[in-house]
Amino acid sequence: MNQVKPVIIVHGGAKTISEDKLAANHAGCQAAAEAGWKILCSGGSAAAAVEAAIQVLESDQTFNAGFGSTMNSEGEVEVDAAIMDGATLAWGAVAAVQGVRHPISVARKLMEDQPRLLVAKSGEQFALEQGLEMCAKDELVSEEQYQEWQEEANVLDRPNTVGCVALDINGNLVAGTSTGGLTGQPQGRVGDSAVVGAGLYADNQLGACSTTGDGESIIPIVLAKTAIDALAGETHPDQAAQHAISTLKARVKGEAGCILLDRQGRIGWAYNSENMAVAYMTEALQQPAVFTHKE
Ligand code: ASP
Repeated sequence: MNQVKPVIIVHGGAKTISEDKLAANHAGCQAAAEAGWKILCSGGSAAAAVEAAIQVLESDQTFNAGFGSTMNSEGEVEVDAAIMDGATLAWGAVAAVQGVRHPISVARKLMEDQPRLLVAKSGEQFALEQGLEMCAKDELVSEEQYQEWQEEANVLDRPNTVGCVALDINGNLVAGTSTGGLTGQPQGRVGDSAVVGAGLYADNQLGACSTTGDGESIIPIVLAKTAIDALAGETHPDQAAQHAISTLKARVKGEAGCILLDRQGRIGWAYNSENMAVAYMTEALQQPAVFTHKE
């Protein structure tokens, strides 16, 4: 089989990014794209690249995933993540888990082990049994998030969900999404990020997508699948992404964003929030192209 040109795209959430956080969003997305790109370039799988890129974002408190996630009504970090493989349609997901350093890695293990969604304690138990990195649940709370929670601060530019889509040299597409959910959400609330079809989708026959935004609006629009379906007939991913966001806006007045690759590796993204942090890398570039706003 001919080798395919690899591509990776990451997002750091659809949100408002204030001036003082532009550089951190920029740097975080760039570092994530670079981590995944390194793997793709050495012939690694799209799944490994997506996991590596999302791990970078989960370690960076600029983003609402892993460390630095927003806090729920009880002042705790509870996270969701999912990953999907476009070759086999295998998927894995965790929701409302605590004390897991990299939720995306638990999702990947599930995808490779036995596709399923594990919530709360069973997700944590699975991570432990698999030897994945655990931590005290408080270790995922950043100082900034703790302060904001204590003060019940009305912050405009909260950190936001992360995601990644990659195409490897074998032509496989993988999508992944990881989130701390919505600020102040009730304990146990799960949004779209762990839900295949809504928070992510991958199918080698069409493309792959990761979404971010208001989960309660993303779910009924099945946003990721809506974007992927719009790729049929070789529609450009930018147009497909825009179609999905316009549908969400028209039908449920939601706010969201999505990143998309088609099976040829063409790139697209769209959002109707103020900003969305995005980085992508291809063979044609010296370093990742990074955006916090799309013209
Ligand atoms: N989609 C996530 C959720 O609803 C939140 C986000 O993307 O900001 O849990």
